[in-house]
Amino acid sequence: MLVDYHVHVVAHGEYHYREEWLNQYLDRAQQRGVQAIGLIEHDQFREKIDWKLIEASKRPDLHIAAGLEIDFVPGREESIKRMIDQLPLDFVMGSVHFIDDWAFDHPDHRAGFDALDIDQVYSDYYVLIDKLVKSRLFDIIGHLDLIKIWGHRPHKKDSLQHVQPILHSIKASPMVIEINSAGLRKPVQEMYPCRQIIEKMFQLGLPVTMGSDAHHPDQVAEGLADVSRTLWSIGYRKVIAFKGRESYPLPLAL
Ligand SMILES: [Zn+2]
Ligand SMILES: [Zn+2]
Repeated sequence: MLVDYHVHVVAHGEYHYREEWLNQYLDRAQQRGVQAIGLIEHDQFREKIDWKLIEASKRPDLHIAAGLEIDFVPGREESIKRMIDQLPLDFVMGSVHFIDDWAFDHPDHRAGFDALDIDQVYSDYYVLIDKLVKSRLFDIIGHLDLIKIWGHRPHKKDSLQHVQPILHSIKASPMVIEINSAGLRKPVQEMYPCRQIIEKMFQLGLPVTMGSDAHHPDQVAEGLADVSRTLWSIGYRKVIAFKGRESYPLPLAL
């Protein structure tokens, strides 16, 4: 029994919402024991979402939710709010993929790390995450420590020291943290966030959901058995899902 709340049907715009294509995702999810799936597109592809098709794709043993993964960029708060208000969303995920104009997680821009002070990069990234949390625009925070994607580690403070103040801000919000398995298939070879951060989250009583960040049906639920085992071993017993932007718990089961 799994929850996969991070599934991109149009990927980076190359695919389309067609019944046959969407069914490949849903079939794969059910074959892999997914009980609740969150279809989520990057906000720049929101025009491609076929809300009616999602609505018509109901299945008896699968909760289907529709979401949006929004790039958080400071100064964009008002337009993000308008976008959210106009769409029939079950949930909204906020993610940081850019530091200024630098798409640090994109393979073509990985070399950007070479020219920069890594401690500064981590600080800059977490300033943005802190603003994302305090904006109170989102239900879920996506891949919390994505900045480690290529394996660069900070020297002066460790990741937990960077994240800890933010976890306290999250505690003051109703936000859910996504445990994202995509890092397991990236050079860093760790889930986002790492176990040490998840342990701290558990101590603070912060709720979680999980996602594969699939950009193809083959990737649905990939790595989520690992995520489930990690969450279970730390003490988590439930995972959060959403309907109409209201959260509800599902049991975590191995
Ligand atoms: Zn993302
Ligand atoms: Zn994503």
